[in-house]
Amino acid sequence: MTESQKDRYRSDADYREKQKRASKEYYEKHRDDPEFRKKRNEASLAWAKRNRTQASQNVAQRQKERYQRDPEYRAKIRQRQKDKYNSDPEFQARRIQAHKDYAERLGPVYLERTRMSAKKRLDKAWDEVLAVYGRICTCCGESNPAFLTLHHKIGSADEDRMRLLGRSTCHSNMYSGYLRKVAEQADHERYEILCYNCNCGTSHRGNGVCPHKIAP
Ligand SMILES: [Zn+2]
Ligand SMILES: [Zn+2]
Repeated sequence: MTESQKDRYRSDADYREKQKRASKEYYEKHRDDPEFRKKRNEASLAWAKRNRTQASQNVAQRQKERYQRDPEYRAKIRQRQKDKYNSDPEFQARRIQAHKDYAERLGPVYLERTRMSAKKRLDKAWDEVLAVYGRICTCCGESNPAFLTLHHKIGSADEDRMRLLGRSTCHSNMYSGYLRKVAEQADHERYEILCYNCNCGTSHRGNGVCPHKIAP
């Protein structure tokens, strides 16, 4: 392109569209021609060499768009980041520091935001559990969601967390992960939904049997 064509390309949207279409058509027509491909590759490499910053920005932008659009690609990148985080202590330290800086920059907004997103995750995970095991106490029929709890029919909750998470204690921001696993299992031999009353009665008073079921 000559300089005046470049100016026009920048300022005239119709002209720009027309040029873009023409070059696209040209590309479609010649894309299988090895000579054309070679020339095109060389030209774009040369361009990238001359415009390093812009080139790396373009690549980053394309990766970002693909990350948002393509779930498989997203999973792959996330896994790669996780592996790097777990195997490269320097990378891990950098990430932790970056996160601290970010939290500090946002201050109370950050705390509120994490609290809200943890709550959202927890609500969603609990809803998955109820969707699998029922939205009602299997003993007394209580259906007010605020009273419903997860009852472990086999072993204790701590033992079950050990089994699924590899640790018995469960910090609140991990609890949603635990609930999602419980939902995934769909193991009705192991879990049931009881209301708070029936759960306490079953666990502490009735030797695994709710006082509702024991004749007075
Ligand atoms: Zn109940
Ligand atoms: Zn009961």
